[in-house]
Amino acid sequence: MLGAHRVSTDPDPREEVTLDPADWADFRRLAHRMVEDMVDHLATLRSRPVWQPMPNEVRDSFDQPVPMKGQGAEAAYRAFATNVMPYPNGNLHPGYFGWVQGTGTPLSMMADMLAAGLNPHMGGHDQAPVLVEKQVISWLVQLMGLPAGASGLLVLGGSMANILGLAVARSSQAGFDLRQDGLWGAKARMMIYASSETHGWIGKAIELLGFGHASLRHVPVGPDYRMSVRALKEQIQADRASGLQPICVVGNAGTVNTGATDDLRQLARVCRDEGLWFHVDGAFGALARLSERLRETVNGIEEADSLAFDLHKWMYQPFDVGCLLVRDGDAHRAAFARSTSYLRSMARGVMAGGLPFADLGVDLTRGFRALKVWMSLKAHGVETFGRLIEQNVDQAQYLARRVAAHPQLQLLAPAPLNVVCFRFAPGRMEEAALNRLNEELLFRLQESGVAVPSSTALAGRFALRCAIVNHRSVRADLDRLVEAAVAIGRQLVHESHGSRAREAG
Ligand SMILES: *Cc1c(COP(=O)(O)O)cnc(C)c1O
Repeated sequence: MLGAHRVSTDPDPREEVTLDPADWADFRRLAHRMVEDMVDHLATLRSRPVWQPMPNEVRDSFDQPVPMKGQGAEAAYRAFATNVMPYPNGNLHPGYFGWVQGTGTPLSMMADMLAAGLNPHMGGHDQAPVLVEKQVISWLVQLMGLPAGASGLLVLGGSMANILGLAVARSSQAGFDLRQDGLWGAKARMMIYASSETHGWIGKAIELLGFGHASLRHVPVGPDYRMSVRALKEQIQADRASGLQPICVVGNAGTVNTGATDDLRQLARVCRDEGLWFHVDGAFGALARLSERLRETVNGIEEADSLAFDLHKWMYQPFDVGCLLVRDGDAHRAAFARSTSYLRSMARGVMAGGLPFADLGVDLTRGFRALKVWMSLKAHGVETFGRLIEQNVDQAQYLARRVAAHPQLQLLAPAPLNVVCFRFAPGRMEEAALNRLNEELLFRLQESGVAVPSSTALAGRFALRCAIVNHRSVRADLDRLVEAAVAIGRQLVHESHGSRAREAG
């Protein structure tokens, strides 16, 4: 209704609104309170249960109509402090060993606030935050032992880093213009090899990249949970013989289940001999390189063509931040770079240098994840991280020894790094009953608030799984875990005797 438009009814400019506070002094007070409360939260973690179930009124508080009228920052913060803050999954707590989850650090919490405050667009542009990320990437390239021409990108996490790594492998190994023709241009099915212990990201990756599961070979592992190199070679030969096109081997540096690391040197050699791309998933294991003592456990990682790892796991950073490094920076850019007129690099001004990060992945708009990593490395130094990683490995070895020495506990897999799998095994009991008992033990242990391990299945056995990537844990926390697990296990045996006696009676 253009005709109805009358300039004289334009709103009064004094009524234009903004999301900045009406009173900065009020906002400053609220902001300080948020910082105080969160610092208190971190400083008093130990005094609370690791995890606690949410009461119904808390759950119900998340089932409300969308607020059409605002209630103010104060009320919004109060809702957070009452119903959100007390009920996280517990990963910050020193008694948390479930899964491989970063614990966060107070410094990086503040760095994330600074990053959100500055809120730079991290696709690129001629700005200092871009230099921060470039600096972080060059440090990480160096720490992982990759050559100077390597490129990299901070991404959401290990899954995305791995998926992007496989995407680079796909376009650079295809042998035709994959970006133009897609997989329709392939003369033969492309094949990818990864051990059966590889994390679930790979299933998503091969679906998303259009390969399909028929392109993925799950290479068997030995009793040490490392990929059988002989089986790998045989599979590659067999696939070539039947006209398939092997393109990539995925090695693991630290598997989720047991912390095993494939023989990366040997895998690199196979890839060289066969002309295949060597991708390494080092989600947490890659960080072992930060320790002089542990570096050899991931020997060969520096030979990767692409390497994915997380900083929000074993570098203790708050979520989220993962990293992809690619040995051949040109291959990396060739997989993703696009030229779009409105995003073109310009000779001068804000757009000088273009959008280098947008050319290395799929995200255009990205946040300033790099800041917390940059500040952490500056503040604490690589040596501190190396020492903490060693401390976690020593704690895992301590736990494994305590388990092995206990007559009612059983270690279920070798513990070469920081993952320990065990169960309560009170003498003669069928496997199925043992699995049920240990599952109930896990529930009660988590609900007790004393410790949070996770679980996995190893050769059909239900295992309590402790992945230690926590800079707050001390050995006494592992003692508490062992004692609680045994006490609950005994209680369960006692209860089952009771119920069997009742059934018999
Ligand atoms: C955690 C993990 C991943 C996935 O990383 P996210 O950061 O959770 O996306 C992949 N591989 C391994 C070995 C992992 O431990």
